[in-house]
Amino acid sequence: MVRYVYDFREGRREMADLLGGKGANLAEMTRLGLPVPPGFTVTTDACRAFLATGAEPPGMTVEVSRHLSAVEAGAGRRLGQRDDPLLLSVRSGARFSMPGMMETVLDIGLNDDSVLGLAKATGNDRFAWDSYRRLVQMFGATVMGVDPALFEEAMTLLKEAREAPDDLHLDANDLAWLVETYKRLIRDETGEEFPQSPAEQLRRAILAVFDSWNGERARLYRRREHIPDDLGTAVTVQRMVYGNLGADSGSGVAFTRDPATGRPGLYGDYLPNAQGEDVVAGIRNTVPLAELERFDPTSYAQLRDHMRTLETHYRDLCDIEFTIERGRLWMLQTRVGKRTAEAAFTIAAQLTDEGLITTNEALARVDGDGLARLMFPAFDTSAAGAALAHGIPASPGAAVGAAVFDSAEAVRRAAAGEKVVLVRQETTPDDLPGMIAAQAVLTSRGGKTSHAAVVARGMGKVCVCGAEELTVEERRFTTRGGVVIEEGTVISVDGSAGAVYPGAVPLADSAVMRFLERGGERSAGVVDTVARALEHADSVRRLEVRANADTPEDAARARRFGAQGIGLCRTEHMFLGERRKLVEEMILAGDDTERERALAALLPLQRADFTGILEAMDGLPVTIRLIDPPLHEFLPDRTELAVRVATAEQPDAHDVELLDAVNRMHEENPMLGLRGVRLGLVIPGLVAMQVRAVAEAVVARTRAGGSPEAEIMVPLVGAVEELRIERAEVERVLAEVSEESGVPVRCPVGTMIELPRAALTAGRIAEEAEFFSFGTNDLTQTTWGFSRDDVEAAFFSAYLDKGVFPASPFETLDRDGVGRLVRIAVDEGRATRPGLKIGVCGEHGGDPASVHFFHTARLDYVSCSPFRVPVARLEAGRAAL
Ligand code: ADP
Ligand code: MG
Ligand code: MG
Repeated sequence: MVRYVYDFREGRREMADLLGGKGANLAEMTRLGLPVPPGFTVTTDACRAFLATGAEPPGMTVEVSRHLSAVEAGAGRRLGQRDDPLLLSVRSGARFSMPGMMETVLDIGLNDDSVLGLAKATGNDRFAWDSYRRLVQMFGATVMGVDPALFEEAMTLLKEAREAPDDLHLDANDLAWLVETYKRLIRDETGEEFPQSPAEQLRRAILAVFDSWNGERARLYRRREHIPDDLGTAVTVQRMVYGNLGADSGSGVAFTRDPATGRPGLYGDYLPNAQGEDVVAGIRNTVPLAELERFDPTSYAQLRDHMRTLETHYRDLCDIEFTIERGRLWMLQTRVGKRTAEAAFTIAAQLTDEGLITTNEALARVDGDGLARLMFPAFDTSAAGAALAHGIPASPGAAVGAAVFDSAEAVRRAAAGEKVVLVRQETTPDDLPGMIAAQAVLTSRGGKTSHAAVVARGMGKVCVCGAEELTVEERRFTTRGGVVIEEGTVISVDGSAGAVYPGAVPLADSAVMRFLERGGERSAGVVDTVARALEHADSVRRLEVRANADTPEDAARARRFGAQGIGLCRTEHMFLGERRKLVEEMILAGDDTERERALAALLPLQRADFTGILEAMDGLPVTIRLIDPPLHEFLPDRTELAVRVATAEQPDAHDVELLDAVNRMHEENPMLGLRGVRLGLVIPGLVAMQVRAVAEAVVARTRAGGSPEAEIMVPLVGAVEELRIERAEVERVLAEVSEESGVPVRCPVGTMIELPRAALTAGRIAEEAEFFSFGTNDLTQTTWGFSRDDVEAAFFSAYLDKGVFPASPFETLDRDGVGRLVRIAVDEGRATRPGLKIGVCGEHGGDPASVHFFHTARLDYVSCSPFRVPVARLEAGRAAL
């Protein structure tokens, strides 16, 4: 018999799949003996069943009633009881936290009768009517689908009529009037009455929370955060406690450490005489948590104790939601809190030092994306003018963009390629599309726990909130000094310092970047914590990390970043610029002598390239790939040339000759055409020249006392025969140069595995290959039949929307398809040649999820762009934990 409902006393933290994060953690707090209002959780199983069939699964309703009776018995009050009603909250909560993206309904159980009973029982009319109007408003919007703006409007009109600066200045009569207005609104909008039956309210609220799993903003958030669509949400039903009972009551949000910097110490916002949803919504301005110590020292001390209990128990930064009802503290939520990258590194190091976690756990808690963020440039504030305003540094980083004032405009402009900053008084979940589209979010209200701050931090997006000096209007904002920034004006947002500047402030390297580049200090602070994480990663990882680099400068930088060699040195980049002319001559050569002359001119240039790179990577392997792209890439554009020839009065003879060659070499599908090893087989002189350049560079470096370790890599092999022929040519030239120079040149010759046929015949190919390197870009193109240059713009966003894949296979390796080929090639290659060295080059080598895959697939190394090297080191370490 499937169970659909669990009391808080039955659940535990490990049951988050079933109870959602919120339900599981409420149960955990209950077990720890913390003051949690009693309640129960309806499982994600029930939600999935409901979403699949449109009806509550059999038995669920009975179970809910049974658990409700238990809560009623404990409280000594019943739902809907006329003289003293029990009120409930009905709360969403999925496996992964989705802050504010789904629905919650508070104060369930009030109606025209029980509101009077509540007023009497608490002796507080205003409170009772305030609770009732909240219920009608939330129920109307969430369950009955009335536009929330209509309720807001009615409230605003009433406040204006009463000259009330905020809702606290509305009295019981005002609120009772508002309840009637809201009820009429519901009737007009839906043709239905607000339900007076508490049982019906409860049932419909539960189902509405289920449905909110598929709401638009929940779906958008999941896509952005890569949360699967089929998990469903749990629903937690809990006895209400009242933060809106007067000045000795209130609600707050708190963190056990600063989620922006990781600094220890309680951190949070408190709002007296309010229900919790007011805190995050930024309806009134909150006060810092420290102030609570002044007006309610007892509750504050308890809160501090509970938070210490939680942090020790979870062994991590926790955030909590709490409410104080007439001096009595209640814990309403906790979870391991979202944090910035800086805070993640800092907290991991601190908790290790405090003995709460091991170095392995510390490494597991930071990640490559966070490290990449810390490597992003920061503003060069010495070059910035005076700040327009200061606010709370809620999510760090430097962002520049045009100020825009609503979500839709942000999306519109970003789609057209413009960088924008979303400026709002405060954000709501409806602003999510705009926040995703924007470089940064700037708000004039709300603290570090406001919606804008929490969501931006989760997304790693720059955010300054609570910049109260700014007056934000519909299409502009004004600073205290009277400066007006209209929509479209470029501003700079410094999420680390909490400042906003006019114009585009220039960027400078971050402290972490300077350190990684071996220029900066390993001072205390975040730089030191990053260094510690990397050191530990290096000590545990099995994967080596190399870099893709084509110049001595890039090679040297990669080495400073910790690269253990070059996994991909592309040689075609060396044919661009002024050398294009020589390549052109080689292609156009009428006979062997002409071709040899052109190649002879290229030889010393290539030799110098390789010598420089081998010097920068002295003592470390450098994998040099022979020329790969189709040769017509080095010739002028076909259309341009044709137009030039057609429109010239007297066409240039060279142009005519070129056009002829371009026409001859034109291919419909160059990606599948004459390129890679195929070039070597058709135009042998070119490969011979490249190999000679490598070999002579090795000789030069050896004579200079260096330890060159060049490896020669043949691209786009599909059959072992191709490699056999090409390799014979390579070995011939190597032997020739050894002979001439008297310096023995020994370079391993290997191949890229980047065609499905190569992966499937890897056992044969390994007979000729001394190493493999997966070219996962081409392997993805050819496995999926996707042209990388075309498909991403053409239809990938539709594919992502429809859930064909959760991320582009060009960014994150497709394990099921491409990954399967990788495994086959590894197994069969090593069966032929035990100990075969195998690596990967291509974008995936620096992608965290892909690095983990390559670790489990037993590769020897990943190779990525120099800037990704620290990221790959960290992730390779995490993969090995
Ligand atoms: P979210 O997931 O969006 O944070 P919650 O379910 O946490 O939504 O509800 C929002 C707020 O409603 C909470 O922060 C809390 O302050 C308030 N709330 C929820 N349940 C109760 C309750 N039983 N008593 C009092 N306030 C509650
Ligand atoms: Mg909450
Ligand atoms: Mg390739």
